[in-house]
Amino acid sequence: MTRIAFIGLGNMGGPMAANLVKAGHAVIGYDLSHDMLKAAEATGVKAANVLTEALVEAEVVVTMLPKGQHVLTVWTDILRSVPKGMLLIDSSTIDVDSARKAHVMAGEVGCLSLDAPVSGGTGGASAGTLTFMAGGSPESFAAAKPLLEVMGRKIVHCGDAGAGQAAKICNNMILGISMIGVCEAFVLGEKLGLSHQALFDVASTSSGQCWSINTYCPVPGPVPTSPANNDYKPGFSAALMLKDLRLSQEAALSSGASTPLGAEAAQLFGLFEKLGNGSRDFSAIIEMFREA
Ligand code: NAD
Repeated sequence: MTRIAFIGLGNMGGPMAANLVKAGHAVIGYDLSHDMLKAAEATGVKAANVLTEALVEAEVVVTMLPKGQHVLTVWTDILRSVPKGMLLIDSSTIDVDSARKAHVMAGEVGCLSLDAPVSGGTGGASAGTLTFMAGGSPESFAAAKPLLEVMGRKIVHCGDAGAGQAAKICNNMILGISMIGVCEAFVLGEKLGLSHQALFDVASTSSGQCWSINTYCPVPGPVPTSPANNDYKPGFSAALMLKDLRLSQEAALSSGASTPLGAEAAQLFGLFEKLGNGSRDFSAIIEMFREA
């Protein structure tokens, strides 16, 4: 049994903390939102009224927050009041520079730290089947792994500080670009009189195959579980895809990488969001190509 402080009990953090409780850990949680705190309490998480209350007996701290600025602010407060040797795990999706800054801050006061963003969405968070992409020292990774295994099915140590965030945004840049490619192909197929099923049967078993076709096909029919069959209810929202594409572009700028298709994908998802589609599944972007 490990005593865990879990900070950020939103759509992802709530079910992740609940799985830690189910596995027999003592979880004390904190969230700015009273509603989220109440919902977590119902799953067995002990609610703290202020951040420091959650930290008093903690052996490990997990954060699951919206953006880099939140993580840096919360980690600054945490690191003021925890003892040397404490392990901090951040599972939020944030920019690589902020993730690296957070590691430096932890190292300065003798704490272990891991950036460990996830993929798998809220479904994976509830089912405990997330993929964790971790960055940090081998010592931090070894200490965190048993807890990550409670919340996830696949745990990959990607390298040093920030490597987990790097892997996450590279993967999601591929996803954003590939979904746009698949959507364009299906719209072209429609114009050429090709049925969705025929294009799926060919492309899903040929060189065009990819997750965006085989698992998440953006038209209803061929893959019954894809959001296209459920009026594009997410799934993975267009707003989160846009967030990750923008993070990839910040990283490209600061590292000097050339990512012209990533830049174009960020533009297109930006436009799609401006048209009022941020809360729909990202595969609904096919409609924008149809209308164009
Ligand atoms: P969310 O907005 O539902 O949850 C974030 C929570 O953090 C909120 O409840 C908010 O009140 C809390 N919070 C913000 N500032 C705080 C502070 N200073 N102290 C305490 N609590 C604070 O977001 P989410 O969907 O749970 O996503 C969390 C992270 O995981 C994001 O970085 C997101 O990009 C990433 N992510 C989300 C998904 C998904 O499908 N939702 C998938 C993969 C990764």
